[in-house]
Amino acid sequence: MKREMLWKQEGFDAAACSDFCEGYKKFISDNKTEREAVAGVIAELKEKGAVSLDEVLEKGMKPEPNQLIYADMMKKSLMIFRMGTAPLTEGLRILGAHVDSPRLDIKQNPLYEDHEMAYLDTHYYGGVKKYQWLTIPLAIHGVVVKKDGTVINVVIGEDESDPVLGITDLLPHLGKSQMGKKAGEFVSGEALNLLIASTPLKGEEKDAVKANVLAIIKEKYGFEEEDFLSAELEVVPAGRARDYGLDRSMVLGYGQDDRVCAYTSYKALLDQENPVYTTACLFADKEEIGSVGATGMTGTYFADAVRELLEACGCASETALRRIFKKSKVLSSDVSAGFDPLFPEVMESKNSCYLGYGPVFNKFTGSGGKFGSNDANAEYIAFLRAAMEKGKVSFQTAELGKVDEGGGGTIAYILAELGCEVIDFGVAVLSMHSPHEVTSKADVYEAYRAYRAFIVG
Ligand code: MN
Ligand code: MN
Repeated sequence: MKREMLWKQEGFDAAACSDFCEGYKKFISDNKTEREAVAGVIAELKEKGAVSLDEVLEKGMKPEPNQLIYADMMKKSLMIFRMGTAPLTEGLRILGAHVDSPRLDIKQNPLYEDHEMAYLDTHYYGGVKKYQWLTIPLAIHGVVVKKDGTVINVVIGEDESDPVLGITDLLPHLGKSQMGKKAGEFVSGEALNLLIASTPLKGEEKDAVKANVLAIIKEKYGFEEEDFLSAELEVVPAGRARDYGLDRSMVLGYGQDDRVCAYTSYKALLDQENPVYTTACLFADKEEIGSVGATGMTGTYFADAVRELLEACGCASETALRRIFKKSKVLSSDVSAGFDPLFPEVMESKNSCYLGYGPVFNKFTGSGGKFGSNDANAEYIAFLRAAMEKGKVSFQTAELGKVDEGGGGTIAYILAELGCEVIDFGVAVLSMHSPHEVTSKADVYEAYRAYRAFIVG
């Protein structure tokens, strides 16, 4: 199928695209974890006059058309609704993204000293190539919650004046047996230990470097070793997202899977005012480890929130709720693997997506015979083709690599189980799941335009 690169298209607004991506880079730099993305967006929503679903219910408010209503789940997943002019029972337009990304989580009992070096032990989260995390500057983001409920927010390694942390690697001179190993065994999960200090506490005999770390933590953050038990600390690449390429056509940044779709979906919801159908934007947690748990998409929070919203609109019927989902249309806004000319062997070129050609529909995901996949209906895809044409949006279609080469999943099948029409639709990424992922600015901006076209389509 003949498609034209966005950069070559007459109507492509390169200046608007560049402006949009400045906001995007800021968002992914300021919000590197699910908690930060949820808190950051709630703060902005409040400034825009949004009300929480709790407040709507407590005060018995009746949702008004165009009103912004939000609800979070344990501060790690978020739902944003913009009420439509049509009744809620006519169904929703849902943009479902996720805000968790592959990373290293600090263990509950992490701190130890070895040969007068202090380390934090980690357990990686999501699909990572472990060797990519060695010798790069790392930061710690997260919370420590004390027994009395006090929450201490921790961000170390992002300010220019902050120290950074990291995981060391063996010098090549002594790496003969290491280099003989397969890449998957090159570094074990247990070996991903973060070097954090090397000076002893004065006057301390045993484990003096560890004691020094505890003294620093106590002074700077006010918590003790025991408090690691009730902490969620995530190790992520340090530093801000940047322009990539001599022509500045791309963005290099951590966790663009899937905050690129979260940001573009959220912006589309904000900017597309007065929708006919109520728009929902989801920031799901735990997608990278199977959408599990109370904050993952398999949890009940989203269906519960829609039920509560329906009640606030004066309808409390379970049948009406089920019918809402049957009438709802979903874009599972998640990234796709862009064709990489350095690794053509894993891709089937006709059914691959390319940087700069717009967001990507994946009719199905899954692996080896579509197992574990949502398989979108042809009728729904036809509707979307028309909506994109109406919005003058460029898009492409793809599969995740060659048949039998591997595969992956998203939250699509979970929303499909509610009875909604669902398809995966997001931005192509290079170096996906690596510490520094790459996207095309043209695709980021076109995804935003596409999500807007979907809302009104
Ligand atoms: Mn994803
Ligand atoms: Mn992923």
